[in-house]
Amino acid sequence: MQKKLLKTNSFINNYQRVINEINSFEDDFKTLSTNELRNRNIKLQKQYKKTSNLDSLLVESFALTKEASLRTLGLKHFDVQLIGGLVLTDQKIAEMKTGEGKTLVATLPACLNALTKKGVHIITVNDYLANRDQISMSQVYRFLGFSTGLIQGEMSKLERKKNYDFDITYVTNYEVTFDFLRDNMALNLNDVVLRPFNYCIIDEVDSILIDEAQTPLILSDTIKTPTDKYIIASEITDYLDLNIHYKVDEKNKNIILTDTGSKQIEKILRVPDLYNPRDPWIPYVINALKANSLFFNNIHYIVQDNRIVIVDEFTGRIMADRRWSDGLHQAVEAKEKVPIRKNTETVAAITYQNFFLLYPKLSGMTGTGKTAEIEFEKIYNLAVEEIPTAKPNIRKDLADVIYKDQFSKWSSIAQACYKISSTGQPILIGTTTVEKSEMLAQLLNEYKLSYQILNAKPENVRRESEIIAQAGQKSAITIATNMAGRGTDIVLGGNLNFQVQKELYDILTLLRNYTLLKRIDIFRSGLKTRVYYKSQKFLSVLFSLLTDKPFLKLSDIAILRLLRENENVIYPSTFYQYSIKFLINELISDYKKHQKQENKIVKNLGGLYIIGTEKNDSRRVDNQLRGRCGRQGDPGISKFFLSLDDNLLRLFGGPKIQTFLQTQMIDDTPLESALLTKSLDSAQQKVEERAYQQRKNLFDYDDILNKQRNIVYFERQAILKAISQKNNMVAYCEQIITDILHELQSEKSMNTQTLKLLENLLGEILSIKYLKNLELLTKQFNLSELKIYLFNEFWLSYQLKINELTIYGNGICENIERSIILINIDRIWREHLQKMTLLREAVGWRGYGQRNPLYEYKQDAFYMFETRKEFLRHLVIYDLLRSSIL
Ligand code: ADP
Repeated sequence: MQKKLLKTNSFINNYQRVINEINSFEDDFKTLSTNELRNRNIKLQKQYKKTSNLDSLLVESFALTKEASLRTLGLKHFDVQLIGGLVLTDQKIAEMKTGEGKTLVATLPACLNALTKKGVHIITVNDYLANRDQISMSQVYRFLGFSTGLIQGEMSKLERKKNYDFDITYVTNYEVTFDFLRDNMALNLNDVVLRPFNYCIIDEVDSILIDEAQTPLILSDTIKTPTDKYIIASEITDYLDLNIHYKVDEKNKNIILTDTGSKQIEKILRVPDLYNPRDPWIPYVINALKANSLFFNNIHYIVQDNRIVIVDEFTGRIMADRRWSDGLHQAVEAKEKVPIRKNTETVAAITYQNFFLLYPKLSGMTGTGKTAEIEFEKIYNLAVEEIPTAKPNIRKDLADVIYKDQFSKWSSIAQACYKISSTGQPILIGTTTVEKSEMLAQLLNEYKLSYQILNAKPENVRRESEIIAQAGQKSAITIATNMAGRGTDIVLGGNLNFQVQKELYDILTLLRNYTLLKRIDIFRSGLKTRVYYKSQKFLSVLFSLLTDKPFLKLSDIAILRLLRENENVIYPSTFYQYSIKFLINELISDYKKHQKQENKIVKNLGGLYIIGTEKNDSRRVDNQLRGRCGRQGDPGISKFFLSLDDNLLRLFGGPKIQTFLQTQMIDDTPLESALLTKSLDSAQQKVEERAYQQRKNLFDYDDILNKQRNIVYFERQAILKAISQKNNMVAYCEQIITDILHELQSEKSMNTQTLKLLENLLGEILSIKYLKNLELLTKQFNLSELKIYLFNEFWLSYQLKINELTIYGNGICENIERSIILINIDRIWREHLQKMTLLREAVGWRGYGQRNPLYEYKQDAFYMFETRKEFLRHLVIYDLLRSSIL
């Protein structure tokens, strides 16, 4: 403890001088008007323009942001938040506990980097958070004269472009990555929405760069799918027995077919060879077995509207747009007997790992980053700094308890809930799957406890933040999959904003359905008891809204949005904003007193009680759950209830611990021992290490594809931006002719195949007469004369083509040329991606003996990539000479 304190102190000391300098501006700035402060900020921008140096502007910029926040949001950055801002400016990861105000911390480096006018991206994990953070923090930015943008899933290209052009843009990891992929498929500069990358702050950086690092984001096209094979393979699994025909490798999520198994399947299918490359059955069979033995309904996926929807094992959230690749998704569809959707072909793909490395300046924030420090450093070159909390953390983490089986564990959890809730202390229970959430709910029913359940099911996801926000209310019991409602603050005693929003939403949506008289009636009789309104003005503002015709036509969702957007508006500018702000403020002042009391009561009860029901694959996720309580110096307790047959212990606990436990546990009494805690920790570390190795491995393999993608995208961008492609076209053709003649020369005699190639490619332009006599020509001319002759022929024909296309208007020819090159670049890249996937699989299957598969992969990938330029030249010239406008 002493050591830690010393370390913390020296850490703060390092930053103390800068913090003092920043804070020293405070008195000065207090006296300045809004305009004067904004002018100071404009002056900083000018200074940057002159010097291109941000370091010298840091202190003043931070001080301005701090003052802007105080004046707009009423929040004054704490010193530890300034440290957070400095860490982010240094392109590191700031580990700050939940509730420490990371959203506000990001404003500091965002404003500093916005001085460059090159764009700042603040990345959040979902649209809701991007929206919420942008709305609240934009006031700080606007105050200083910066513009802010927000990207949301449903936005058009035009809107996206506009929002990315602003100084600071809030966007999710998903949207920005797909925008990048789409931009690199654009045929026209107007379709590109992103500017060159500059500076990026990733919120919840560990979930994006570690948990989701491995999932590639894929833009795809549909292709033909052998549906029958999936169905037959699924049916075959009924005739196969575990450990006789196949084995299941649970750790690696793999299936191994035995010899007997292969033979049995070949017999059933009446095929001689499952592995026949012309009619391969093996991938279908393996996927069908995987679907049966390793992927389960309500755990790994849910069946919804006749579709298989993936559930993230880590977070319990549904991943609506994702599909498992390589036929696994179809195999699960066959197993569940839902329609099999078409296979898709990747047209572009990137992993988050590689995407975020494209930013020249990268930084991140998280509540839980330290345990993954090595990975952040090795892969992303990002150091992790642990920032002390503003107030001391007084959360109690109780020792884990282990039960002999699931039954005893879950019964004890229900019992514990019963006991804890008898005092009114709120409880949040983290579960890993939908199934378990529902099972626990059943148990709680037996105790007649009321609870809120939050899981991956879509009907609950919508209310997620509201439910989580209220999890700190007295007597609340909330069952949630691990990261449900992340980013939402749990305030002890209940979240005032959410309560008020809900109340006003109910009033507005209910009352607008009635005539004015009836409304007054209802309001007086029914609602009066629920709303603690007092003022006459409240009523008159409410009714002015309810007599506004356009307002009455708004949908419920639109009203909800209005309420939410208004949450952080300080200076309302429209009639709606003004009215809603007023009503909210009135309600807040009524509720506030009540909330204060509630907060005190819940604090006295010991704060939020967190119950973990299983140790996760990584300590980070466990810490995330724990971190939901004890925010900003609040009291709180966390405890994990485990069982011997939990996945983690079962798969990674090792035989010694299993025997130990089995002999120790004869009844339902739980075990708490140092040996246990140690071996649990080491099991978890083993899994973490393994997951890290897998990600590292993927990263190493992906590295080569990434370099190739960078080259292709770079070349593509140059083409996209160039006004004319003339030089390219001429160079392509000359290179083709040179290559072909070189080949002719090296073979010494005329090669009909080469000639055919030339004819095929350039046949349209070269007069047939000459071509036919090419053989003759080669005898009359030497090769260099022939080269000049062919060059001339091409130039002439090319000029004719230009003239032909130009008739249709200025710029037409340039557009066609650009499209021809880009479409072919994309086509070759797409084919390359498929080949690389096959190569990757082949490397896995191929026995390399002593050779290193990664090295072999890189070699092959290199050669495959090298041929692309030649392909491109041929395809482009072929298309160009045959292009016409009909
Ligand atoms: P985190 O993302 O770190 O969990 P949030 O950004 O959600 O935290 O902030 C948690 C709460 O703390 C919010 O209600 C926010 O308004 C409040 N907060 C943040 N910074 C300050 C500050 N300097 N002073 C007072 N309240 C703050």
